[in-house]
Formats: sequence, C-alpha cells, structure tokens
Amino acid sequence: MTDIIIIGAGPAGLSAAIYAKRAGYSVMILDKGASECQITKATEVENYLGYLSITGIDLHSKFVEHVKANDISIIKKAVVSLEQNDAGFTVHTRKDSFDAKNVILAMGRSHKHLGIEGEERLSGAGVSYCATCDGFFFKNKSVAVIGGGDSALSQAIYLSAFCKNVYLIHRRDTFRAASYLVDRAKSIENIEFILNSTVQEILGESFVNGIRVKTNDTISKLDCDGVFGAIGEKANLNFEIPALNTNPQGQIITDNYCRTNIHGLYAVGDIREREVYQIITAVADGALVIEGILKDSN
Ligand code: NAP
Repeated sequence: MTDIIIIGAGPAGLSAAIYAKRAGYSVMILDKGASECQITKATEVENYLGYLSITGIDLHSKFVEHVKANDISIIKKAVVSLEQNDAGFTVHTRKDSFDAKNVILAMGRSHKHLGIEGEERLSGAGVSYCATCDGFFFKNKSVAVIGGGDSALSQAIYLSAFCKNVYLIHRRDTFRAASYLVDRAKSIENIEFILNSTVQEILGESFVNGIRVKTNDTISKLDCDGVFGAIGEKANLNFEIPALNTNPQGQIITDNYCRTNIHGLYAVGDIREREVYQIITAVADGALVIEGILKDSN
C-alpha cells in the first residue's frame, strides 16, 4: 500500500509529490496525460519567481524533471473512481486498482465552453481554447478571442505576433485581466477590441469562417478563421466522491492545509475553492498538504 497517491500531474500535484517524498512518504502520481493540464496552455508566464519569462510548457517540463529526479513515478492512467475503505482508499483506473492510505486530488480545472451554436460542431475546425496549442495554424489569418480575463488577454497578445488580426471580444468594457495585460494588448496594432459584445454563433461549413456578434442590440457578422474561447474554467472532478464537500461551482472545499471533509482525502491547486488561481499558489499547496497529512497522522 502506498502512503500517498496523487491524482493529477499539474504544478500542485507535482509539488505535493516532492514534499511527500522528502517527508519520507511513499508516493505515486496518476495522471491521464500531462499535456491536458492548464499550465501547458499558458503562453507566457512572467510572474513565477525565478523566471523573467518562460512558456507554460517549459516550466511544466522543469517541474516534471524535478519530480523524476526524486524517483517518483508518474503513471499515465486516468482515474475513473475512488473508493474509501478501512485501510484508506482504492483508486481505480479502467484496468487497474491502487491502494493508498491518503489521496491528494490535484486534477485542476479546464476551460468552460461558450455554449453557442456552431461551437461543438466546429471544435478542432477553427474553434480552440488554447492559443499555444493551436495558434500556429492561424498564421497570417484573422482570429477572435472571447473573454476579458488574464487568459483572453494573454492569448490575444500571443496570437497577435503571427496572426493578421486579433479581435478581442468581451461582454463588458472593463476587464478582469491584470491591467498590465490590458495595457499591453491595447498598445498592439493588430488587436482590435470589440467591447460590450457577445458572440451569438460560430459560422462555417467544415471550418470556421466567421462569427455573429451582438453589440448592444445590433447583430453583425465578423469574418474570421479561428475562434479562441477564454471565458474561464471549471473544476475537473470527473468522478463521484459521495459526501465530499464542494461549493456550487463544483470546487472542493478545504481548510488551510488542503484537507477535505473526508479523513485522508486532500485537494490541492485549482480544483479546490480558493481566491487566487496562479501557478505559484498551486505549487505552494504542495507544502501545505504534506503538513496537513503529517498533522493528521500524529
Ligand atoms: P476569468 O478570470 O474567470 O475570466 C473569464 C472572462 O470570461 C471574464 O472576463 C468573463 O466576463 C468572461 N466570461 C465568462 N463567461 C462568459 C460567457 N458566457 N460569455 C462571454 N464572456 C464570458 O478566467 P481566466 O481568464 O481563464 O482566468 C482564470 C484564472 O487563471 C484567473 O485567476 C487568472 O488570473 C488565472 N490566469 C493567470 C495567468 C497568468 O498568471 N498570467 C494566465 C491565465 C490565467 P466578466 O468579466 O464579465 O465576468
């Protein structure tokens, strides 16, 4: 039986693994595929201590390297269910089961869908949620980025370097995004802000060729080749855990040591209810959760 199984290999899960190993626990990470985690979609990280600027993919690779250097195995399997028993927990993947005294949930969050006509049909055919993953396909083309948070502004800035035009479409005229991102985007010539506007429909037969935009009461068609949805995230709690306390948004409620209401079950990073969703706060959870486990085992 492993002391700690961590589900998810994003910044929070990887950091928890290092702290667990150094506290003398046996630890294993189960992850459905590292490329799925949010950090790998960050175009440019400029606020992680020690790096003036680094891509999310590169920063994540450094985290993985650090974990592997500590002889911690990352097993590429998706967890389908979690069962609590007298000894602790059994974590089930499709084909295997793993026993652990403690489980740390670190599955993070994923993008919200826009919920508009054409979105699902044209997903992968011009509709994307990740500029770093798919931006290259839109070189010298026109794209629309939807949202007014850090993700939308940073994706617009990233895309502006090689796209012909970037339309930043936001439903208000003020932004959730950090002001330095807004200022930078405003200074870039080929980013056009379309404010107080919502996208009603994504158009195109086999590939995106435009969107229908509503500004005040006027609906107009805007030609574009790609649409990047950046309207926020939802917790990736994809299997049921009876009796687990979550908030109405589905985020797991924890205390300051990342303890859930179930003994031996912890949650770190973006999957838990918190005020600030940053790489550095997710990484900090690694230290907090192991302190929580140490306290619970005394
Ligand atoms: P967010 O901060 O929740 O912003 C979502 C944006 O989408 C808001 O502007 C919101 O509009 C808009 N929106 C929501 N639902 C919509 C809908 N149905 N139709 C149209 N617009 C809609 O999400 P995020 O930008 O993904 O950022 C999430 C977290 O990750 C934040 O804490 C952010 O700081 C962090 N993050 C950090 C970095 C970085 O460190 N550089 C990069 C990316 C993300 P309203 O404003 O009107 O509600």
